[in-house]
Amino acid sequence: MVRQDAWKQYDDTELAEVMKFAEGYSAFLSACKTERECVVFGVSEARRKGFADLADIVREGRTLRAGDRVYYNWMGKDLMAFVIGEKPLSEGMNILGAHIDSPRVDVKQNPLYEDEGIAYFDTHYYGGIKKYQWVAIPLALHGVIVRKDGTRETVAIGEKEEDPVFCFSDLLIHLAQDQMSKKASEAVEGEALNLIVGGRPLKDAEKEAVKAQVLKLLKEQLGAEEEDLLSAELEIVPAGRARDLGFDRSMILGYGHDDRICAYPSLRAVTDCEGTPAYTVCAILTDKEEIGSVGATGMASNFFENTVAELISACEGGYSDLTLRRCLRNSRMLSSDVSAGFDPNFAGVFEKKNAAILGKGVCFNKFTGRGGKGGSNDANAEFMAEIRRIMDDAGVDFQTAELGKVDAGGGGTIAYMCAKYGMNVIDAGIAVLSMHAPYEIAAKCDLWEGYKCYRAFAREAKAF
Ligand code: MN
Ligand code: MN
Repeated sequence: MVRQDAWKQYDDTELAEVMKFAEGYSAFLSACKTERECVVFGVSEARRKGFADLADIVREGRTLRAGDRVYYNWMGKDLMAFVIGEKPLSEGMNILGAHIDSPRVDVKQNPLYEDEGIAYFDTHYYGGIKKYQWVAIPLALHGVIVRKDGTRETVAIGEKEEDPVFCFSDLLIHLAQDQMSKKASEAVEGEALNLIVGGRPLKDAEKEAVKAQVLKLLKEQLGAEEEDLLSAELEIVPAGRARDLGFDRSMILGYGHDDRICAYPSLRAVTDCEGTPAYTVCAILTDKEEIGSVGATGMASNFFENTVAELISACEGGYSDLTLRRCLRNSRMLSSDVSAGFDPNFAGVFEKKNAAILGKGVCFNKFTGRGGKGGSNDANAEFMAEIRRIMDDAGVDFQTAELGKVDAGGGGTIAYMCAKYGMNVIDAGIAVLSMHAPYEIAAKCDLWEGYKCYRAFAREAKAF
């Protein structure tokens, strides 16, 4: 089957749009490196476009009508945005769901120690990473420190030109004979990821003077005592901004494409939605996908269902359990998550006909999972046919793919968790190279086709 080369389809006007959209995305990616930062961005974007806080609507007992725009911020780590459609919610919504957590290294709760003149933060990695990729590169510290009285300090150190950065050291090659003969998974061990955070002793301190210096600076710069780190969430991420990749600037090299390259266009598809859509459209930006969608902010929690219940309750007609069930069952969803791009350097793990190729447009994965489709949401052929209709009518370049060769490995997304309501769900996202590496690669045209796909789906998907 022929797959279109997205770049070749563009006239000058659309090409300019592709590049401009990518610029906006790059700025977002550079600024938003944690789930919390993505929610802050999303809320301000939604408010700027006239969305009201659903919590305010509920508190004030206001009624929502077709064309109204609302968002809901759950624990500062999940964001949902809705545009109320003409049809009743019982006929379902058109949902775009992406995740905003990315693989990284977290700081432990009792992190700070000193060893031979160097101060370290002890860490625990989050999500699937190749640990050896995270040593000897500049790193930044993002997150929050919450004090006992509930006051908080937002942390983002390592991004501004004048900021210091942090680093995990690696063993010098001269003494690495043993390390180099180890399996890649053991060359750098999780417990050895100790972040260098200081090296200058405090003059008057007698013991642990370097640690004392770091504590003094934590107090001065962040108003935090050592004990306050017990109630901190500090995430270690690659320092610096996303960059254009290649002479032709056709790609973006950046941290966290998985899954912010789907989260950004999903949110934009809803916040850019003009007028009143036929069906209510919804964007979900969720946390904790990289560790199995567990916890109060993961997709496996009831936060989404609860929010839809509030939404129904705020609309004319009011709440009933049956309306909620019908709404969820009749919804249609794109689980917007990245796909593994075919990498010619590692061609052996892919089956080329059914692999996502960079530059060939947005990618649909009918199923994910591992082995015999284990753990997968396998979308219905009827739904895939509806998707083809919408994409072809809107002139979206798309391709279909599997993660890799049948027995090469596997993975999952939030698709099966939403499918438990009985709604039709399919994975639809953007192909990336070096997925889960500190810097991942994606093509600007695929991002653009993704945005076009999400917009078309939000507008055109129907109950069938
Ligand atoms: Mn993902
Ligand atoms: Mn992932």
